[in-house]
Amino acid sequence: MDHRLSPELEELRRTVAEFAHDVVAPKIGDFYERHEFPYEIVREMGRMGLFGLPFPEEYGGMGGDYLALGIALEELARVDSSVAITLEAGVSLGAMPIHLFGTQEQKQQWLPRLCSGEILGAFGLTEPDGGSDAGATRTTARLDPETDEWVINGSKCFITNSGTDITGLVTVTAVTGRKPDGRPQISAIIVPSGTPGFTVAAPYSKVGWNASDTRELSFADVRVPAANLLGEEGRGYAQFLRILDEGRIAIAALATGLAQGCVDESVKYAKERHAFGRPIGANQAIQFKIADMEMKAHTARLAWRDAASRLVAGEPFKKEAALAKLYSSTIAVDNARDATQIHGGYGFMNEYPVARMWRDSKILEIGEGTSEVQRMLIARELGLVG
Ligand SMILES: Cc1cc2nc3c(=O)[nH]c(=O)nc-3n(C[C@H](O)[C@H](O)[C@H](O)COP(=O)(O)OP(=O)(O)OC[C@H]3O[C@@H](n4cnc5c(N)ncnc54)[C@H](O)[C@@H]3O)c2cc1C
Repeated sequence: MDHRLSPELEELRRTVAEFAHDVVAPKIGDFYERHEFPYEIVREMGRMGLFGLPFPEEYGGMGGDYLALGIALEELARVDSSVAITLEAGVSLGAMPIHLFGTQEQKQQWLPRLCSGEILGAFGLTEPDGGSDAGATRTTARLDPETDEWVINGSKCFITNSGTDITGLVTVTAVTGRKPDGRPQISAIIVPSGTPGFTVAAPYSKVGWNASDTRELSFADVRVPAANLLGEEGRGYAQFLRILDEGRIAIAALATGLAQGCVDESVKYAKERHAFGRPIGANQAIQFKIADMEMKAHTARLAWRDAASRLVAGEPFKKEAALAKLYSSTIAVDNARDATQIHGGYGFMNEYPVARMWRDSKILEIGEGTSEVQRMLIARELGLVG
């Protein structure tokens, strides 16, 4: 299998790398310090077509695929993870469910504006009482036959992109009935921002991803048309498992970018910083640490590209996506720790990108399925059942 990039993907990689270097890098530190959503950068990402990368041109997309999305995410996260997760959540969690499961009307209504970045979409699965056990959803939606509307009650937590000024919709999972065996029947429903009874809390105070938007949502008798059901009633659980399988590849690409960014910063610093009369990079201890960091980033890249290639080819990719997510997030944390160490005291100062990378790395082992959940998926794919 050839994991080298086609000329088109290499061109995309270069364009996004230049954008990350020239536009994101000089500005993002200030947004991060102020815990502020970087609208001007996100607007520019929209103009570049990044939010439409894997979607068909008829809906305003770029006609690319998950490889293209991964390339863009890796290059962005090499410089900053807040903008990368804004893109990842906007595409994989916000727009992709509508592309994969929406009706023609839903696609026409939402995708063009999602692809252009005019609006952001969010995906509300996690609830205050549980994220890993997503089948335990407590939010409910009942169809009111008189008005032909869903009436939604409940709450969601930690939802990315859900409360920005340009958020247009949140797709939420809710229990819409019971199966014959008594288990809950979960469906996905599109809730437009601003719907009465749908409240978005103030942004969380987070350890990292401080220039990205994460909120708690609550639903009190929120009414939306019956036509806002996404896909088939009762298929919400299967749908979001598919969305999360794909999303893992995107998070793996993002984690690879962070891991590579740690190498970039460490190489630069190891050449500049002198101790005992010579650059610290002249010490084999530092060289070996950076060589190991490069090895890990390179291997993570192969893993996510392998999973993405299988997805694009229409082959099974569940195990490979979980392997890529587990590995890349683990080594992103490793690389961030080592890069900070190489930077000494400066590595603990927020003005240095590695400090931001360190703070941004931990969530990669938690979001879109924790490392334990990835291990459960891999074990299941190996035929081990608990
Ligand atoms: C910044 C941020 C952004 C997020 N964005 C979104 C979003 O856009 N949409 C969304 O729906 N969610 C989002 N999430 C939620 C995220 O996906 C969940 O936090 C994650 O899936 C874990 O769920 P939890 O926090 O409920 O942890 P829990 O499920 O309560 O798990 C707690 C711990 O127990 C472990 N554990 C649980 N079950 C088992 C088991 N059977 N065996 C072994 N260990 C187990 C877990 O691995 C974890 O270590 C976001 C979270 C954060 C922090």
